Amino acid sequence: MEIDMKPDLQIITNYYKVQEIKQLTENTFVLSLPKSRFKFVAGQHISLSIKGDYQSREYSIYSAEESDNLQVLVKEVEGGYFSPKLKHLKAGDMVEVHGPFGKFGLEEKKRHTHQHVFIASGTGIAPFHSIVKTNPDLNYQLILGVRYANEAYEIEDYDRKMFTLCTSRDEKGDFKGRLTEYLKKTEFNKNTCFYLCGNSDMIFDAMEILKTKGFERESVTVEVYF
Ligand SMILES: Cc1cc2nc3c(=O)[nH]c(=O)nc-3n(C[C@H](O)[C@H](O)[C@H](O)COP(=O)(O)OP(=O)(O)OC[C@H]3O[C@@H](n4cnc5c(N)ncnc54)[C@H](O)[C@@H]3O)c2cc1C
Repeated sequence: MEIDMKPDLQIITNYYKVQEIKQLTENTFVLSLPKSRFKFVAGQHISLSIKGDYQSREYSIYSAEESDNLQVLVKEVEGGYFSPKLKHLKAGDMVEVHGPFGKFGLEEKKRHTHQHVFIASGTGIAPFHSIVKTNPDLNYQLILGVRYANEAYEIEDYDRKMFTLCTSRDEKGDFKGRLTEYLKKTEFNKNTCFYLCGNSDMIFDAMEILKTKGFERESVTVEVYF
């Protein structure tokens, strides 16, 4: 987009006007921007900054590849620098978008030969939302680990038969306990691609469990948030 400046100082930037901040829970929200002006592959992330602020943070793209909006799903981290600022943006405020970045996404070559198991903690569900919305016919299994069932953000967007909700602090999910406990108890087809996204503790524990189940490192793709 072109920014109004003196003609000799004109620069091309990628500012987007915030359209909406949709609050999903007290501290989690979907930030909607106009349609992306770049092509991306579901699973990739962008880097966001707020106009006038020098800091930026990465966020997985939450919306589908051809969606009319570019969206991210954000959890406000208590005491965090950037996410509370994002939460307080209003429609019309400007953010700067860089990207897309990363190679996290569906293993296209294995799309029809393998089962696809998505494993997420918290907002780590974001890239899977984009993948599922982009590929409505995809046969997948999504395993989400959260503390409380209300953190299963926009669960209605998924095929409930393909979604296993693990809740560690209430009994409103499909499995009461950590998702790693669920993984230990679950059998997976030999031909499975695993996609892990979320915090590093969950990811490393899950990788160990998959290793003990005999899955090679090549069958696991990871996106670490923090
Ligand atoms: C590739 C990539 C994709 C990401 N995608 C998303 C996304 O889709 N949605 C999203 O909410 N975040 C995502 N993150 C995390 C995001 O970039 C920020 O780290 C997060 O918003 C916190 O920023 P902050 O400035 O508020 O906190 P900071 O001031 O940078 O950090 C405060 C502390 O919070 C920890 N922290 C970071 N994220 C979380 C979290 N979700 N829960 C608890 N503690 C956390 C950090 O490790 C740090 O110790 C992603 C990170 C990466 C690397």
